[in-house]
Amino acid sequence: MPESITSNDVINSQQETISEIRLSVAKLCQDYSGDYWRELDRNQEYPTEFVKALTESGFLSVLIPEEYGGSGLGIVAASTILEEIHHQGCNAAACHAQMYTMGTVLRHGSELQKKKYLPKIADGTLRLQAFGVTEPTSGTDTTSLRTTAIKDGDEYIINGQKIWTSRAEHSDLMLLLARTTPLNQVSKKTEGLSVFLLDMQEAKKKGLSIKPIKTMMNHSTTEVFFDNLRIPEDNLIGDEGRGFRYILSGMNAERILIAAECIGDAKWFTNKSTNYANDRHVFGRPIGQNQGIQFPIARAYANMKAAELMVYHAANLYDKGESIGEEANTAKLLAADASWSAAEACVQTYGGFGFAEEYDIERKYREARLYQVAPISTNLILSYLAEHVLGMPRSY
Ligand SMILES: Cc1cc2nc3c(=O)[nH]c(=O)nc-3n(C[C@H](O)[C@H](O)[C@H](O)COP(=O)(O)OP(=O)(O)OC[C@H]3O[C@@H](n4cnc5c(N)ncnc54)[C@H](O)[C@@H]3O)c2cc1C
Repeated sequence: MPESITSNDVINSQQETISEIRLSVAKLCQDYSGDYWRELDRNQEYPTEFVKALTESGFLSVLIPEEYGGSGLGIVAASTILEEIHHQGCNAAACHAQMYTMGTVLRHGSELQKKKYLPKIADGTLRLQAFGVTEPTSGTDTTSLRTTAIKDGDEYIINGQKIWTSRAEHSDLMLLLARTTPLNQVSKKTEGLSVFLLDMQEAKKKGLSIKPIKTMMNHSTTEVFFDNLRIPEDNLIGDEGRGFRYILSGMNAERILIAAECIGDAKWFTNKSTNYANDRHVFGRPIGQNQGIQFPIARAYANMKAAELMVYHAANLYDKGESIGEEANTAKLLAADASWSAAEACVQTYGGFGFAEEYDIERKYREARLYQVAPISTNLILSYLAEHVLGMPRSY
């Protein structure tokens, strides 16, 4: 951790610590200006130096308990870190998974697995950044996934394919969801799926291959193929067949954290919009004097404030150990909408310059669009709220 942040601060004053974290993150981000991100974006390159700086400052290990080498903070602190990274115009997508993917190991792994992996994840020696769930044929219908893990002696043999496995080329470990019992032999589709923590460096030598996917923003995402890959049975996390449940419990944390990134993006866009609206003069007066320019920015700000309350409400409840499906999903929905409306207002405020690379608006605009679709799409959140919160019939 940076010198200014110690675990004692947490005991003294949670709020003070959060403010200090925010300041430290903002300071670190100042070394990574628009020039840095533009260059990476142009070449579709990974932000290695930025990720290294975050790792060395301890920001990526805040959720790991102190006994395993992290700082044992909660989702509020982690959300603050990610929000501030985005508020400063940087992008945490290259490394946010290092923060939370280990949660499945922490909650469901054996003591042996926790001792083996968590301290190395905490100090960055091991990167656990790849999360292999989505498949090309099944998409959002996760329980229909086709990748299989078949037990053979003291090993499992993995066959299948994943898509959109982000950061696979920049990860040492992958958390993988695969079917261990065929669909026609389970009473519920959610059963018979298992989670594995596999050593990617070993796997690449014997049946794992990775193919990058070029996307509209710089995201280091890939397709991953498993061809008779043999992994040791002790790569299984928790009980065989209960993996879907394990993965779901981690998804609420992911939704809150990514929602916090959207809040940071919304703040960044709104700062940019406001400054430009004040500075740019057309027809002899600042464009921000026109209500047609003011109102979309003010509305985006109001949307962000409401979403921010929901994000930190969900984060607080999560840290208290409460069940937060409704809050995590609502936070993700509102925050993704808030960042998108702030992005829209910003491009409109900048007029033609919104499309020029050097202003960073078009890059952030492309980046912000993702959160309407991933890690869960807006439609699926609405379905969740309609069915599980409001009690309407299941639609799929
Ligand atoms: C850049 C990027 C990075 C990603 N990183 C990862 C990663 O690291 N690991 C990982 O496992 N996955 C990752 N994903 C996958 C992401 O979680 C999925 O793309 C997302 O959940 C949507 O699934 P899909 O693309 O298969 O869409 P589909 O399931 O094919 O759906 C297509 C569209 O139809 C809608 N739809 C589908 N079913 C319904 C329904 N019943 N009712 C209403 N609408 C419906 C969806 O909302 C969506 O808009 C990533 C995706 C992207 C684009």
